[in-house]
Amino acid sequence: MPEVSVALLPGDGIGPEVIGEARRIVDAVAPQHGLTIDWHEHLVGGVSIDAHGTALTDDVLEACSGSTAVMLGAVGGPKWDTTDPDKPRPEQGLLGLRSGLGLYANLRPVRPWPALYEASPLRRERIEGTDLLVVRELTGGLYFGERGREPERAFDTCVYTTEEVSRLAEWGFRAAAGRRGKVTSVDKANVLETSRLWREVVIGVAAGHPDIELEHMLVDNAAMQLVSRPADFDVIVTENLFGDILSDEAAMITGSIGMLPSASLGPGTLGMYEPVHGSAPDIAGRGVANPIATVLSAAMMLRYSLGAPEAADRLDAAVDAVLAAGHRPPDLGGALGTREIGDLILAALA
Ligand code: NAD
Repeated sequence: MPEVSVALLPGDGIGPEVIGEARRIVDAVAPQHGLTIDWHEHLVGGVSIDAHGTALTDDVLEACSGSTAVMLGAVGGPKWDTTDPDKPRPEQGLLGLRSGLGLYANLRPVRPWPALYEASPLRRERIEGTDLLVVRELTGGLYFGERGREPERAFDTCVYTTEEVSRLAEWGFRAAAGRRGKVTSVDKANVLETSRLWREVVIGVAAGHPDIELEHMLVDNAAMQLVSRPADFDVIVTENLFGDILSDEAAMITGSIGMLPSASLGPGTLGMYEPVHGSAPDIAGRGVANPIATVLSAAMMLRYSLGAPEAADRLDAAVDAVLAAGHRPPDLGGALGTREIGDLILAALA
């Protein structure tokens, strides 16, 4: 049975709780699809700052780059919050992994479950039929530009190259080809120079995909359309900061941020898989975090990095079955804990 190596980075807050369930579930399903997983666990984020003074050590980055896939829980928490630019911050671990592993495309599927329509703050008729994919650029823009701080002045810079935009857009068009064939490119081309470059490059990439419909949308309009007519979107391609904000907004279509998975991919099959939510310090250590976003991220790992799409389909179906049967964690208005939801998913798989 082929053994694949997966780096496990539980991180901070609820990270270890939700990662524990995903690991247990993958261990149950993978052997039935001819895979055994060699998990190796490492520190990242706040726990790494405590142990090593940095959010990501070179050894951990090296271990991740030598793996078939990386699974991450979440990083951060009040213990490490600081506005001092010289102090290490947990998110530096995430950014270091994304850039160090060359993971430039972040995929965030948003598909509300019929069983959860009532959990969304949006009316059922608005969200019914929504099935969209946010493809967010992950290693450029404001998050990685030159920045500086003086006593009464601070700046961040947003830089994009044609290469960065075109490889991301290619991802979006290829994804749309396997879906409903529409790409919405989100920018702020009426104001930002990087957005005007973005738009030109996306138009160029579209020429190579004549069967895909392309529309451009300004980010402020996109924020509005996402809650007024989410079902009209298929694939959204956008830059780093806009994608960060829009995908959290889109999360609420599903009722809770505890439901949304993500995959970060680069040129090869190595990917990093993590829930969209953060470390939720307000509920950490209580065993009440919703593990579903992490379990669905593990399904994306089985599909994109481990070559086991049938196992991924089974995991998705097991989550559907648990929700359809009416089981709910607290963030969806129920009372079931992290472990209980994990047990129910395992039972649905069996
Ligand atoms: P958050 O996503 O951690 O929490 C927002 C709200 O959603 C909280 O009320 C939380 O309890 C709830 N929530 C989140 N995940 C949940 C889950 N699985 N089940 C049930 N409820 C859940 O965002 P935040 O509060 O803005 O940030 C908290 C910390 O997480 C900060 O330090 C932030 O920097 C960090 N963060 C990390 C990541 C990451 O690791 N990828 C992403 C976002 C924020």
